Amino acid sequence: MEDTQNTVQPNSETPAAAPAKAAKPKLKALVERDSCTGCEYCVHWCPVPACLELKGGEKAEGVLQIVHINIETCIGCKQCEQYCPYDAIHIYKLTPEEVEKATPLQGIIDQPYSEGVL
Ligand code: SF4
Ligand code: SF4
Repeated sequence: MEDTQNTVQPNSETPAAAPAKAAKPKLKALVERDSCTGCEYCVHWCPVPACLELKGGEKAEGVLQIVHINIETCIGCKQCEQYCPYDAIHIYKLTPEEVEKATPLQGIIDQPYSEGVL
């Protein structure tokens, strides 16, 4: 006899085309342009090779060192946020559309992130 006791059965027939799963938001780091001093602590603590890189970038006082983020490889582990002495880098839950916008910006934002900044 077939054992059906522990088998979960669908409560109706499977629809012809199941709807696609919505992409989940992802945790990513973003850095505030004028708060980053280029001290490089976050680069030291990031566990992902070459995810953070110090390069020149436009700031209020001119072109100065600022950390650039590889949004694609960032795993949202929060190490950078934890060790930044200047409160300049934070982790955010980004939608796929926001990830797409943040990638070419290399994670640099003009002010603390809130909905609509990206
Ligand atoms: S984000 Fe913070 S830790 Fe990283 S370089 Fe800028 S100021 Fe330093
Ligand atoms: S969240 Fe983690 S992986 Fe992403 S930049 Fe910060 S330290 Fe690196």
